[in-house]
Amino acid sequence: MHKCVSGVMTAALWASIVQADPINSANGPQIHELASADVTVSIRPVVRPEFKEIRVSTEGNARFQAWLGAFRERALQQGISATTLDRSLAGLTYDWDVIKRDRNQAEFSKPIWEYLDSAVSDRRIANGRAGLERHNAVLTRIEAQYGVEKEVVTAIWGLETSYGSFRGGDQTIRSLATLAFDARRASFFEAQLVAALQIIQAGDVVPGAMTGSWAGAMGHTQFMPTSYLEHAVDFDGDGRRDIWSDDPTDALASAASYLARHGWKKGQPWGIEVQLPYGFDFASAKRDHRLMPSEWAALGVVGRDGQAIPDHGKAAILLPAGGQGVALMIFDNFNVIEKYNGADAYVIGIGHLSDRLVGGSPFQASWPRDDRILSFTEKKELQGLLTQAGFDTQGIDGRTGPNTVNAVRAYQLAQGLVPDGYPTLRLLERLR
Ligand code: CA
Repeated sequence: MHKCVSGVMTAALWASIVQADPINSANGPQIHELASADVTVSIRPVVRPEFKEIRVSTEGNARFQAWLGAFRERALQQGISATTLDRSLAGLTYDWDVIKRDRNQAEFSKPIWEYLDSAVSDRRIANGRAGLERHNAVLTRIEAQYGVEKEVVTAIWGLETSYGSFRGGDQTIRSLATLAFDARRASFFEAQLVAALQIIQAGDVVPGAMTGSWAGAMGHTQFMPTSYLEHAVDFDGDGRRDIWSDDPTDALASAASYLARHGWKKGQPWGIEVQLPYGFDFASAKRDHRLMPSEWAALGVVGRDGQAIPDHGKAAILLPAGGQGVALMIFDNFNVIEKYNGADAYVIGIGHLSDRLVGGSPFQASWPRDDRILSFTEKKELQGLLTQAGFDTQGIDGRTGPNTVNAVRAYQLAQGLVPDGYPTLRLLERLR
């Protein structure tokens, strides 16, 4: 799967969600390094418009061709044959559109409730149930072999490519070469490009059929090439690990294999909606504070039905929208889905969609839909003000990572506010 810095990811998740129901991701497993408290589901480091346009000029293309020549030498040294390089790189040109999409990060990210409206829409649930029925035999075999529930595998398929409907038609080699030539994340994408060439060299796919998202995520479940090399499987036994064809068998098994390799525990929930007691200590709602559900129950944290959650293993409390909105008790399997895409919203989307496919109910609590979430610029301002006030966010990057959450929490505690670590407009106004 995907991710930028750690796993796999689904990149254009967000943008596509807004444009069309299909949550088409731009990255596959292996590209995600998202913030945690917000839903900047752009799986890549957020960099703003300060880039130099390498227009499709003669000069720009000459530079790209010169780079390709140098890359070719590096690839040869890494074991890619001249034949594979000839087949794959012949006639390759720079794809300006890929760079535009890479830079096109919205100033305003979407709140999690809007993300979930699309990620777990009635339509996506209905299509998922139809997919489960249609592919029941193979999904059942995949579940038996890898120990990953078929609804979870189907949910990944549903969020990554709307069950195979939006696999992406960009030529993977061209996209990756463009991104590797581009300076922003050159080494990451050059490694992906070499991996893609290794896949071609191994005979799993011919260059022309290797397609996917603009960011190099491929096939039904949007694997980045390095994730593919490590985790893709030939489940139908034809000798090729084919995640690109209309038949999703290998791709679905590969997604299950990926989760299994990262420690999926069959039968354990990813997360369960809970209710918090009056007077709940919000400072205890943090990822590294893990208790058994029975211990949480002793503190008054119970299921929506008022009953203690069964002891499925240690769990943390996650408040995706702070003290208001849905409260979740999350288990180890949450961290496993996170390896696919690190955005909390994505993980919750996968988990909740899988629950709905099983027949589970919608979340019971309501989200603070009237709240406007902070823009990128406002997040940077918040980080600056917090740091000035003595609550160091360890950097000012406009992303709500763990350091920012901790700083927000410390400030809230100092101010006698509910320490949920959730940055709001009100908090920013208070700091100004
Ligand atoms: Ca196969």
